[in-house]
Amino acid sequence: MPARVLLAIASLALVGCAALPAPGPSRGWIYRHGGLLEEAPGAPLASRAEALLDRLRPHCDCEAVTLGVVDDERVGAYAFPNGTLFVTRALLESLDDVQVMAALAHELGHLDGTRHGNPSEHRADASGCDLLEQSGVAPSAMLDLVMHLQETTGREYADGLSRRELALRERLGHPAH
Ligand SMILES: [Zn+2]
Repeated sequence: MPARVLLAIASLALVGCAALPAPGPSRGWIYRHGGLLEEAPGAPLASRAEALLDRLRPHCDCEAVTLGVVDDERVGAYAFPNGTLFVTRALLESLDDVQVMAALAHELGHLDGTRHGNPSEHRADASGCDLLEQSGVAPSAMLDLVMHLQETTGREYADGLSRRELALRERLGHPAH
């Protein structure tokens, strides 16, 4: 992967979070992630994702953000610098509403980080926690998400996720047992 721009869920999930190098998604990128899930039976999933993003929108500078769902069986979320977010079908099928909001808030944190020139997983988590709190969701949802991903994802993301867990525990004052 070229510059690190794919922030999204690649690190988050299984695929994690990645900040994408291109300003926006190419047709090839969408194709490689299973294509857009716009038709039934995917429509209810996409509607749910939009509704959850709408709960965050009043509290972020994200009027221009658009959200798509790709028909990918790997859990993932992606943020492109042009404000295009994608989540995968597997992410929506495997996470509860609050966890999905945490994933979206993390991705929005990447966009915010991009604007400020220093995107990183920890900053995206921190920014995402603030956004969750402003939206009336306990910021510990971000820790729940990271823990869930650690339990369900492979070794590939283990180091990054455990570092995120430690940073979140410190931030949230939730020491490990
Ligand atoms: Zn990320």
